[in-house]
Amino acid sequence: MRFISRCLMLGVTILAGIAVAGLPDAAAQQAYPNKAITIVVPAAAGGPTDTVTRLMAESMGRTLGAQIIIENIGGAGGTLGITRAAKAPADGYTLMLYHVGLSTSASLYDNLRYDTLNDFDAIGRITDVPMTVVGKSTLAPRNIAEWIAFVKERQQGVTYGHAGIGSASHLCELLLSSALGIKLTTVSYRGTGPAMNDLLGGQIDTMCDQTTNTTNQIKEGRIKGYAVTTATRISALRDLPTLDEAGLKGFEVSAWHALWAPKGTPKDIIDKLTAALQSALKDAKVIDRFAGLGTEPVEMAKATPAALKTQLEAEVAKWGKVIKAAGVKGE
Ligand code: ASP
Repeated sequence: MRFISRCLMLGVTILAGIAVAGLPDAAAQQAYPNKAITIVVPAAAGGPTDTVTRLMAESMGRTLGAQIIIENIGGAGGTLGITRAAKAPADGYTLMLYHVGLSTSASLYDNLRYDTLNDFDAIGRITDVPMTVVGKSTLAPRNIAEWIAFVKERQQGVTYGHAGIGSASHLCELLLSSALGIKLTTVSYRGTGPAMNDLLGGQIDTMCDQTTNTTNQIKEGRIKGYAVTTATRISALRDLPTLDEAGLKGFEVSAWHALWAPKGTPKDIIDKLTAALQSALKDAKVIDRFAGLGTEPVEMAKATPAALKTQLEAEVAKWGKVIKAAGVKGE
């Protein structure tokens, strides 16, 4: 009797031991996500990429049933924030939302601490944000033809704000300067959120920045809008001609944004994130807010990991050639 009860007790102890030892595992395997997710934005708060991220995070957080925290890490044209995301644990709790700059910085910097093509798992593309050539409210030119004449004549007498070498606003300046054969005086910020503050304050003259940062400022007359960088006009800013219409034939650039995870993130987590991203792109509130800011979700076929991976490879190759031809390098 005694022996049996001892054995039983021992059995219970062993079972309890297994259950206790199993606990941390069980917690780790609890359905993802079971804690807050951080999205790194490689640019300052209040700027265009931050705006896209906040809209997406609100919708995706609802779908995933998790809080999403945004961490803004601007500087060095976005490469500081990209590095932070590349080195984060591949557990689905640190992601990165960034744009075309992920592809341009690959050719602009020789000393990157991450491998652009191999350090990230693709989740999905989000939106291709048009850009706009804008000026401070007191800038003399009244339209894009006058702006072109103005910058051609004054060149380094004109100050142009951008978010650092490798940012979308830097890429647009590089394309404008090479198309027009000019050299402007550039002023670098940790994001075009702070650059916009200086444009509003009249400390800098001009910028080429994303509609998610400029649409409301143009509509409310706080800055001058001159042209859009897309192949066709956009409905949020109907009056603005395209740069192609203004004579810069074939000029086209947009800030395609996408969501990434550190390389090695489990496939089931990536699948959940892609599904939440796609449902955000169908969310009426997101569509509506994007439209008000001059942009729209990409079509679903582009919002997949495979399509995004192909996109990054194509863009690294495309901008690599342009940057090499321009002879530009990061700091
Ligand atoms: N995406 C940057 C920002 O949000 C701007 C840029 O790349 O030009 O500030």
